[in-house]
Amino acid sequence: MHTPVHEGLFTLDPPALLGALCGECGHHSFPRLAHCPYCGCENVDPVTLSDHGTLWGWTEVTTAPPGYEGVVPFGFGVVELPEGLRIVTRLTSPTATYEYGLAMRLQIVDLGDGVVTWEFTPETGRGV
Ligand SMILES: [Zn+2]
Repeated sequence: MHTPVHEGLFTLDPPALLGALCGECGHHSFPRLAHCPYCGCENVDPVTLSDHGTLWGWTEVTTAPPGYEGVVPFGFGVVELPEGLRIVTRLTSPTATYEYGLAMRLQIVDLGDGVVTWEFTPETGRGV
């Protein structure tokens, strides 16, 4: 049994982030809210966001944050989706091959005790 680290952010099978599309200004957003964070209107529709994108920025987390019991190090950064939306996200631990524009794909990772979250990993390095 896999339990998402937080309900309503992503699906497990297939792995996907749950976002929204604004019917007024046309912006995609994540996480899904009852209103558009860009124009404030409530004309937003739920959408499933692309499961791939390009690496925009990254760093490595080498010390476990308070309450976190998963593996360190892990990556943290920004991935730009085809929708034009930049997601602040966990990443597979960065390697020397990381570079701006690297093709990344969403995957589900186990944090321990069946709790899972999402991360982006290089297209060529899928390990699950
Ligand atoms: Zn809007």
